[in-house]
Amino acid sequence: MTEEIRKTYRVVEKVTEAPSVSTIKLVIDDGVKKNIVPPFHPGQFINVYFPELGTPEGKAYSISSSPLEKTLNITVKAMGQFSNKLCALEKGDMITASLPYGYFYSESDETSIVMIAGGIGIAPFRSMIFDAAARTPQRKLRLFCSYRAAADIIFRKELDALSAAAPCDFKVFYFVTREECRDPAVISGRMSVNDIIGNAKKGRKNIAGREFFMCGSIQFVGSFWKALRKQGVLEEMMCTESFFSH
Ligand SMILES: Cc1cc2nc3c(=O)[nH]c(=O)nc-3n(C[C@H](O)[C@H](O)[C@H](O)COP(=O)(O)OP(=O)(O)OC[C@H]3O[C@@H](n4cnc5c(N)ncnc54)[C@H](O)[C@@H]3O)c2cc1C
Repeated sequence: MTEEIRKTYRVVEKVTEAPSVSTIKLVIDDGVKKNIVPPFHPGQFINVYFPELGTPEGKAYSISSSPLEKTLNITVKAMGQFSNKLCALEKGDMITASLPYGYFYSESDETSIVMIAGGIGIAPFRSMIFDAAARTPQRKLRLFCSYRAAADIIFRKELDALSAAAPCDFKVFYFVTREECRDPAVISGRMSVNDIIGNAKKGRKNIAGREFFMCGSIQFVGSFWKALRKQGVLEEMMCTESFFSH
């Protein structure tokens, strides 16, 4: 196995996205150049290291910025020791992390992409959406995201603005499971595979040519993967990233 290359990243900014969720904006300074963003595919992650917390293997965090942005961003939900430490970072702090890696991305520039996110699982999709919207605006992008409550929805302002922007074919659907939401743009109740398939088929006979990306807890991703298979989606058209078990 090739050894992972570790870099020192500097925190440029921290943004609070929702209660307990922060985006940490990072750059690399090497001896000669400053403010470097390493190359990556939207959907990849970095491995962060805090060896003092007793996890020498580090923990993975998806990149939430697109490669067109000036910083490499991760968006973290504070859940335990490691994520709390990340969310407590301040501008100017340094952390050790790997270069970007992982295979959670589309190899095509042409397929339609259906993204299914559970909670913080939206992080890599923000990167994919803003990259695809800028580089291939004709591409059909659909994002289905499920949260417990409306207050947990993150990136909403910029996603709604993108969805309203003319040449870009992007639509977002918000679901909340633990409250009745009065906001007409938010659907109260559990997101089902029928919501997703029904939308993916709109105006077409079938779902051929659509790639399905799922990200969230192991249980969330597993249940949508099985349900999509039952609906006839081919394994090679599905790609998953599981963050944690819950
Ligand atoms: C490829 C990959 C990409 C990832 N990307 C992200 C990312 O972009 N943002 C992010 O916040 N996390 C991400 N994670 C999860 C991250 O690596 C950590 O597992 C997470 O931050 C929890 O670590 P912890 O030590 O703080 O909490 P732990 O002590 O490991 O967990 C505390 C408890 O919370 C549960 N839990 C952990 N994380 C969550 C969560 N986010 N939501 C609900 N319950 C949870 C655990 O099952 C456990 O019961 C990713 C994981 C992988 C494998």
